[in-house]
Amino acid sequence: MDIIHLLPDSVANQIAAGEVIQRPASCLKELVENSLDAGASRVQVIVRDAGRTLLQVIDNGMGMSEMDARLAFERHATSKIREAQDLFSLRTMGFRGEALASICAVAQVEMTTRRAEDETGTLIEIHGSDVVRQEPCSCPVGTNIKVSNLFFNVPVRRKFLKTDQTELRNLLTEFYHIVLVYPKVSFTFVHNDEILLELPAGTEKQRIEAVFGNPKKNVYTSAFVDVNTETELVSIRGFVIKPENATKKCEQYFFVNGRYMRHPYFLKAVQTAYSGMLTADYQPSFFIYFTVEPEAIDVNIHPTKTEIKFADEQAIFQILMASVREALGKFTLAPTLDFDAPSSIDIPLPTRQPVAAPHVTVDPTYNPFHTRGAIYPDRTPKNWESLYEGIQKSEVRTLNTPNIPIDQNIPIESAPIWQYGGKYIFLAVENGLMLINQHRAHTAVLYAQFLEQLEHTQGAMQQLLFPEVLPLNSDEMALLVQLLPDLKAIGFDLEQLSPDSYAIQAIPSQMTNQSAVPVLQHILQQVRERGADTQREWREQIALALAEQSAIPYGKILNEPEMRDLVTRLMALPQYRRTSDGKAIVSILSDEEINKRF
Ligand code: ADP
Ligand code: MG
Repeated sequence: MDIIHLLPDSVANQIAAGEVIQRPASCLKELVENSLDAGASRVQVIVRDAGRTLLQVIDNGMGMSEMDARLAFERHATSKIREAQDLFSLRTMGFRGEALASICAVAQVEMTTRRAEDETGTLIEIHGSDVVRQEPCSCPVGTNIKVSNLFFNVPVRRKFLKTDQTELRNLLTEFYHIVLVYPKVSFTFVHNDEILLELPAGTEKQRIEAVFGNPKKNVYTSAFVDVNTETELVSIRGFVIKPENATKKCEQYFFVNGRYMRHPYFLKAVQTAYSGMLTADYQPSFFIYFTVEPEAIDVNIHPTKTEIKFADEQAIFQILMASVREALGKFTLAPTLDFDAPSSIDIPLPTRQPVAAPHVTVDPTYNPFHTRGAIYPDRTPKNWESLYEGIQKSEVRTLNTPNIPIDQNIPIESAPIWQYGGKYIFLAVENGLMLINQHRAHTAVLYAQFLEQLEHTQGAMQQLLFPEVLPLNSDEMALLVQLLPDLKAIGFDLEQLSPDSYAIQAIPSQMTNQSAVPVLQHILQQVRERGADTQREWREQIALALAEQSAIPYGKILNEPEMRDLVTRLMALPQYRRTSDGKAIVSILSDEEINKRF
């Protein structure tokens, strides 16, 4: 039976998609995740020139039928979800059905694949999305996919790749994130004909040892103690370093439901558990695996991001901190116990912290796109205002000026208004129905704001508590230096740290809840890709890139005041029908067209 089907556009659009393949490491991640989703027990990775010339992944998973082999490269082709509802209960790593389509658009791909029930397999070759060959072939069960000359047709992308050493490090980082959660799958990683990693199937601890241990030195994992806590809300297992073994260089890994994640807030919980136990600037190493109901997390904030939003972060923070403390407490009082042996001894420890809130239940109606979305954690309309913090007085004045061109005198304050599909705002107007694309509308509003701020050098800043480091290659460095005055005008405060990095001290105040590094990277990339000759064009590119990144995403549920506010601001723009790059923001369905339907 063929198992792949096309995802309807509506579902695809609910997915906060982004650019999937930015570098060889993102390509590797997608390919290996596909192998794991296909149930492989053995995965081989073969790389040449840090992935620039070759990235090959061979698995012994379920393989694909002839038809599926072809469909797999179509955008939004996936065998993993069918309806938007499925997004909230993901159990596979991939789900967007866009990885292979993205990869084959920017590389030369050759794949052979066979299912156990088929006698012959399929060979398919695609160059920059064009199928150049498809034929039956004989091959082992599983899938062997070879990605050659990544970005051969996107010179800009190729140019942005870092040195082989850096790209190889990125590949390995991505690889670690995966292999540490799949200890039962065996992996090899070969670079330029040299076996860098040979990881047999085993336990989590054996896997950590195989990745980070050095056979000539002490057993790496003996420096750790076990963490093990089960509550209704979350199960937390893993290993945390004994305080005496902590160093300045550390390995810090969180995983949730089989996925690597970054989580600065939970990191704080672990650090707090160690407080007073570590020498200054030493950091705890840890490998912590969370298991929660899939409905209780939102993995879909951004396809390439590793941040994950939990429904109950505060409760989990408490549980995590208490479990780490408990593990360390046990260790401090009874250092000779063998924690590897399953032990039922529960020593009553005077210093032991009670595990907080074990009876919290998961809210099954939690929907990350609706309420506690990642973008605006507070759902009160008041928070909406924070979007516009830092709007300069001049802009407010423009809005109140009586001669603003409000089209057709739409009574935005009172006309029926509603949201459709998490993507469009419908507004009843005099002769029909106005359909407004919410993300584009907000992008246009922010674009105008940012542009004005740039011209008047008056962007409001918000200082970052912890400056972020922006790594740059020499091209990016040169471009950034040229853009500095404008970036400053819009609200960034940047200071050179080293010959290849800048510290980000402050960001524009409209950037709520965003990490600054990807936004600046996006700006640099867009300015380069879209090109700019004059300062005016430069500014337009910066304003647009920043607006795109800061605008409300598709899928964000808006309440009525938010919608009216957005539409009012949109209508106040001199050009509100199209974005600065020509895409439609509004469309009108006339009464006549509506009547014709009946
Ligand atoms: P996604 O993983 O999001 O579904 P991809 O573009 O990564 O999208 O893959 C598209 C489809 O191709 C998958 O849903 C799966 O059915 C099939 N596929 C991709 N890689 C493999 C593989 N290694 N083995 C078997 N099937 C695969
Ligand atoms: Mg995939």
